[in-house]
Amino acid sequence: MDGLHRKSGIPKDKITEVHGNTNLELCRKCGKDYMRDFRVRTSKHVHKHDTGRFCDNKECKGNLYDTIINFNESLRDEDLEVGFDHGWNADLMLCLGSSLRVHPAAAMAEATIQRGKNMVIVNLQKTPMSDKEGVMHIFAKIDDVTELLMAKLGYDIPEFRLKRYAKMELDTKGSSETVSLSGIDYLGGPYQIFKSIAINGKAEDKIDSTRLDEFNTSFTFHAHYNEPKLEIKVPRSAFTDKTCRIEMVFDPFTRNWLAANVQDADFKNTEQLKFSFDRSASTTAPEKKAAPPVKAAKAPVKPISRTKFSQKAPEKKDLRSALFPSKRHQFANSIMTSAVARNSPAHPFLNALQKQTKDMLEDMKAKLAAVNADIEALAQRND
Ligand SMILES: [Zn+2]
Repeated sequence: MDGLHRKSGIPKDKITEVHGNTNLELCRKCGKDYMRDFRVRTSKHVHKHDTGRFCDNKECKGNLYDTIINFNESLRDEDLEVGFDHGWNADLMLCLGSSLRVHPAAAMAEATIQRGKNMVIVNLQKTPMSDKEGVMHIFAKIDDVTELLMAKLGYDIPEFRLKRYAKMELDTKGSSETVSLSGIDYLGGPYQIFKSIAINGKAEDKIDSTRLDEFNTSFTFHAHYNEPKLEIKVPRSAFTDKTCRIEMVFDPFTRNWLAANVQDADFKNTEQLKFSFDRSASTTAPEKKAAPPVKAAKAPVKPISRTKFSQKAPEKKDLRSALFPSKRHQFANSIMTSAVARNSPAHPFLNALQKQTKDMLEDMKAKLAAVNADIEALAQRND
């Protein structure tokens, strides 16, 4: 719902966002969807969804609608179908961070255990399905469990890097030519990530490019991640079939742009472009804390990423209001941030929660170690 699943890079046909996506608006007339780097909802009425913007397609020009599903509104039929289909066909259902109390989404998960298959729940609260047959409930934080799981499976967890994409297109008419520049998502769909664009000093997304051999592009972002303005030099040689796809790689923890690459049709990098940005707001990488020792898993547990966020934050206030827009969210976040910053929970509730989680995790690790020992003993007996 917060749009993070799509931003993570999972192809959209592999996700069902049953309750919608705050960053996505849809043309109901032609079906084209538009990702934006801002909240698309503008309506003050709960059940009104038009955003006041229109479809780019010149033959369509339909009204755009936000994709949020509010309480008492029906889910889209195709999302329901896909969700139940997955629930019904899964051998193992993972339910991460869900109370499993909101229907019909909860019923999609329940379909798996109704068929006699298994479910693993990772959630701090008990759920209506926790005690059902075939269900294993781990009372812990998702980060802690997935990190242990990834270590067990032998996968590294890469540092988060934000990737932005832009597309340039050449259009020839007679002897003159124009070049246009726009933001796209990783699959090439329209994605409004730029607040403004300039090409060769002109504050426009389309300019006359006749006889130009190089384009000096300049991007100003909506800056969900505090991205500074970026300038990239794009030579004409970067274009294939009159288009050019640019990948921009950003480290949100230090506010540094790391790379600008040209990509081919298979999304492979083919050329590195020259780029520049104002480095005065950037920081060097925060030093990593020593990882706590873990008995059950081989790999160390990394500190949670929220700590990293609180360490950089040169424009904390802006970032916070972008990430936590309501007063209530800001309050909750300020408690979390100060608790994490001082490394001692500022709130009795957090204190209790942290202790409870730790105890449960320790308990879980002990049980896992016992099971491993049993398996080993059995294996030795079989030898
Ligand atoms: Zn349309």
